[in-house]
Amino acid sequence: MALIVQKYGGSSVADAEAIKRVAQRIVAQKKAGYDVVVVVSAMGDTTDELLDLAEQVSPMPPARELDMLVTAGERMSMALVAMAIENLGFEARSFTGSQAGVITTSLHGNAKIIDVTPGRIQEAVGEGAICIVAGFQGVSQDTKDITSLGRGGSDTTAVALAAALEADACEIYSDVDGVFTADPRIVPSAQRIPQISYEEMLEMAASGTKILHLRCVEYARQYNIPLHVRSSFSQKPGTWVVPEVEESEGMEQPIISGVSHDRSEAKITVVGVPDKVGEAATIFRALADAEINIDMIVQNVSAVSTSRTDISFTVPKDFGKEAVAALKKVQDKVGFESLRYDDKIGKVSLIGAGMRSYPGVTARFFDAIAGSSTNVEMISTSEIRISVIVEEDQIDAAVRAAHSEFQLDADQVEAVVYGGTGR
Ligand code: ASP
Ligand code: MG
Repeated sequence: MALIVQKYGGSSVADAEAIKRVAQRIVAQKKAGYDVVVVVSAMGDTTDELLDLAEQVSPMPPARELDMLVTAGERMSMALVAMAIENLGFEARSFTGSQAGVITTSLHGNAKIIDVTPGRIQEAVGEGAICIVAGFQGVSQDTKDITSLGRGGSDTTAVALAAALEADACEIYSDVDGVFTADPRIVPSAQRIPQISYEEMLEMAASGTKILHLRCVEYARQYNIPLHVRSSFSQKPGTWVVPEVEESEGMEQPIISGVSHDRSEAKITVVGVPDKVGEAATIFRALADAEINIDMIVQNVSAVSTSRTDISFTVPKDFGKEAVAALKKVQDKVGFESLRYDDKIGKVSLIGAGMRSYPGVTARFFDAIAGSSTNVEMISTSEIRISVIVEEDQIDAAVRAAHSEFQLDADQVEAVVYGGTGR
């Protein structure tokens, strides 16, 4: 029998009504003759609320306990969804990530899946039950403690389970009708992308498109699992994320697939770094040892008079304090003058596999950004992406300008945001 893995995001299970609606959808799939394994996120903004609560009892909650707390959100949803399904007369069993065999590294708050051994799920499916698995969590191979997979991690749970169960498809349900050419909250005329390659989706997810967790897309590509990203509030088809986009008849692939933006980064400038061999290495080693991910980097040409230079880079805002602390520790060793921290910035990215073969994309992008009176602070590129750092207040204007420059606007507004607070 064909097996489908479905994942429902927080807004799809936000309250009792939503949970009953999702149960109907799951049962419909079962009635259509499929085996169904469901992965759920925490209800609505539960994860954020739990994190707020933790902060109220301790400014620095221990990472182990924080994971115990936040993973409880998904466990509430899994039990409620199972109850709602049973109420419709179908057998349902819920499982924590650990029970479902999701084995991870031990890094609390951002653990990576090492292996999935879904014996209990297979057994339950074999007995005809619908399985509901708590997303976003697993159990550490070494410490046996409960871990969480990083914000948005339920998507990754779904794909990892789909791979381990050799599922025929993996459906990711949220509150929008798929992946759009830009965030419809900023660009109301954004269009749904019917099909997108793993490669482009990876760049989008890495550049701030929140609809899919980055690691989920990496996993899907590694195991060749087609993803169908769609809304649980409508029956419309969504976006297929696939190995290679098929050229349909009379439809040329667009050069650009979309414009992403990201408000989660901050910029750090290390001022007055002596222009000597090994200084950059010391700086980035200090950040690596503190487990801080760096995104864009710019090093200025050093001033002839001082032989000193400035190095700027971006880090996730959430790690801003740690990054500054890690750098202060090596200030004497490196001999830099000072640090500047700016979290009023954002990143705007243009993504499209067609960039490889069409000249002039970069010029058009910068023309459009300039036309929106936006100043560019940093630039980085990959083969299929151009990103710029701009002031926070100019993100929206820059996104709109780039979106219309590449003629991505739909004639009619098609994006509907059904639920969620966008938090
Ligand atoms: N509930 C978790 C979060 O809000 C995981 C998820 O939704 O995928 O980040
Ligand atoms: Mg969530």
